[in-house]
Amino acid sequence: MSLRYDLHCHSLISDGFLSPEALVARAVEKGVDVLALTDHDCTAGLGRARAAAGEGLRLVNGVEISARWAERELHIVGLGIDPEQADLAQGLAAQRGRRRERAEEMGRRLLKLGVADAYEGVVAYGAESLGRGHFVQFLVAQGHAKDNAQVFKRFIGKGCTGYVPGQWMSLEQAVSLIRGAGGLPVLAHPGRYKFSNGKLKALIGEFAELGGAGVELAYPNQQAGEAERLGRVCQELKLAGSAGSDFHGPMPWTELGRVRPLPAGVEPVWERLNGR
Ligand code: AMP
Ligand code: MN
Ligand code: MN
Ligand code: MN
Repeated sequence: MSLRYDLHCHSLISDGFLSPEALVARAVEKGVDVLALTDHDCTAGLGRARAAAGEGLRLVNGVEISARWAERELHIVGLGIDPEQADLAQGLAAQRGRRRERAEEMGRRLLKLGVADAYEGVVAYGAESLGRGHFVQFLVAQGHAKDNAQVFKRFIGKGCTGYVPGQWMSLEQAVSLIRGAGGLPVLAHPGRYKFSNGKLKALIGEFAELGGAGVELAYPNQQAGEAERLGRVCQELKLAGSAGSDFHGPMPWTELGRVRPLPAGVEPVWERLNGR
């Protein structure tokens, strides 16, 4: 019998809604056999998730690193990392520090838009890694907007007064930190960057040269045909394919373990995990 893999999800250590324990319990309930917890720039939930997993499922140590490439923002998932590895731990801590500074600046900008105490509000959620998702929670809770889309459109998306660009590490550094910690770097949700096909191919080529191991070929709200097209690119470049729900909490468009199969002929990244 084949195993059910979900190699991308979040807990409230970053911008997810469930504790690591509740996330693992839900994954077991949904029939997940192998789960990677991949909080944004943070590995603090992994110990709790592993303790909760027990014999119920196999937990893969993961992280989702925000990185810059060609003046754009990318997400690189690291699978099978050693969270104690010093360079990785330091790199992630620095990035979380910059997330905090960005959140403070966002708080100051939001005040100009008539929103008081946003920074204090998002800090009160208690996450280790502060993200824009926390501002969404706060602004919706305070009645300033009705949902995620409205918060990005009116307050914190590109072009809004409350938009503060993230100060992320380079793609090269993200790949090298993941490799240095024994992990496999995976390009997350490639279709979400809105690159042209040519630019995406260039990115994947460069990612492979830098030491990338795989590309997510199955994730929510993916365009039809993308998995097959990028699957061929992966085969040419000897990259593996990954699959993840990017679950943050119960939402209509995603669920733990709900991932499509990889396109035929693509090597699954889990075959490279080798006990990681
Ligand atoms: P951060 O890493 O803190 O910058 O937050 C990025 C997260 O915000 C992404 O993972 C998305 O889930 C969400 N996000 C980014 N841009 C948008 C957008 N335009 N509309 C809705 N959600 C977005
Ligand atoms: Mn997120
Ligand atoms: Mn992401
Ligand atoms: Mn994610």
